[in-house]
Amino acid sequence: KMEAGMMEYRIVPIDLNRILDISVNKVRLLADSKHIQLLREQPKERLWVKADALRIEQVLDNLLSNALKFSPEGGIVKLHMAPDSKSGVLEVAVSDAGPGIVSEDLPHIFERFYRADPARARESGGTGLGLAIVKEIAEAHGGTVAVESTPGHGTRFTVTLPACAADDVSSDR
Ligand code: ATP
Ligand code: MG
Repeated sequence: KMEAGMMEYRIVPIDLNRILDISVNKVRLLADSKHIQLLREQPKERLWVKADALRIEQVLDNLLSNALKFSPEGGIVKLHMAPDSKSGVLEVAVSDAGPGIVSEDLPHIFERFYRADPARARESGGTGLGLAIVKEIAEAHGGTVAVESTPGHGTRFTVTLPACAADDVSSDR
């Protein structure tokens, strides 16, 4: 669908916290089984973005499943959310303390079927499509995705999405 330009988006104001609840609940059992701590850092207020809820769920599912898959037993995965009112975007970051990604691989990980460290990727299973989907969806929303990684220390993915202006959100939501 992506390749054929057939992805359809239904963009409405959504509360990012609600989507995050859904994604986090899906991976909780996996996190528990690897004794991985899932930490959520976020402001108290609701975080409204203009987005397609199902697609953003897909983004979070992919980033969380990578973070958990590549984390060692007993690791820690952090979810961080912060509005940047100046630029009108909302940032969502997923970070782990896993093996990291070497700098030669970093420019390629968003390509379809690209897997850094093929031996490890094979062991952990996967086709190398998750991040290509994340990038496609983030950019279709007018957002971005970026990665920072330190081999041996961990990886952090940051997605930005357009925030909703307060008057975009009707009071009955
Ligand atoms: P799929 O998502 O299709 O199941 P995948 O997880 O291997 O397969 P991507 O999610 O696209 O594919 O990730 C591409 C590659 O980037 C991975 O194979 C891995 O080498 C690297 N990678 C992604 N996330 C992380 C992470 N959190 N820590 C270390 N390496 C990562
Ligand atoms: Mg993946």
